[in-house]
Amino acid sequence: MTIFENLAAVRAEIARAAATAQRSVNSITLLAVSKTQPVKAIEQALAAGQRVFGENRVQEAARKFPALRQKYPDLAVHLIGPLQTNKVKQAVAVFDAIHSVDRPKLADALGHEMRAQNRRLPCFIEVNIGQEPQKAGISPHDVDAFVLACRERFGIPVAGLMCIPPANADPLPYFKQMAALAKRCGVSCLSMGMSSDYAVAIAAGASHIRVGTAIFGERSKPSSAETS
Ligand SMILES: *Cc1c(COP(=O)(O)O)cnc(C)c1O
Repeated sequence: MTIFENLAAVRAEIARAAATAQRSVNSITLLAVSKTQPVKAIEQALAAGQRVFGENRVQEAARKFPALRQKYPDLAVHLIGPLQTNKVKQAVAVFDAIHSVDRPKLADALGHEMRAQNRRLPCFIEVNIGQEPQKAGISPHDVDAFVLACRERFGIPVAGLMCIPPANADPLPYFKQMAALAKRCGVSCLSMGMSSDYAVAIAAGASHIRVGTAIFGERSKPSSAETS
């Protein structure tokens, strides 16, 4: 299967899931997760009409996307991976949205840097919805207070919430909890759903789905030298 065919299949599945959930397809943004993929693969997705991409490393995105933006000014790149505070400056310059705001120190740094660069990037608060000790994210119990602090104290635009549910578990109950949390916090966007479960996420109300493998095929292992 080509990237063109894969994208067509993913779009058809999004349309099917949206129709089943009685939602408009326009309420769902597909992020093509291009981490570890070469520029050539991204160009194929662009040629197929895809415009929003997800990357999990700042330096990798900084290397791949500026040239592509010349040709496709409406292209958008969202950071979906962990962000270290020492890379916030570059991240604010390179990305159009941040899906991994997971701690006060990072929110504070993002607020300062967005003001310094006069750029306002929509931010998603990463929620550790499965309350897994090894995983990043704000505890579901602390989300309301953190959203408030992001808005009022750190001054960052909170677009919504993001999660990666526990592996090898039915994701639906977690996605539903996320939808309830978003409603409670008064945020409209929900970044959830990957190649294996994006249709389930759409049923639960996802506004942003992050799909890599189903579009680009299996990833080669990222080099361990390159960190976010
Ligand atoms: C890699 C990644 C994805 C995409 O995963 P696939 O299973 O390849 O669709 C989505 N979200 C995050 C945070 C990722 O790191």
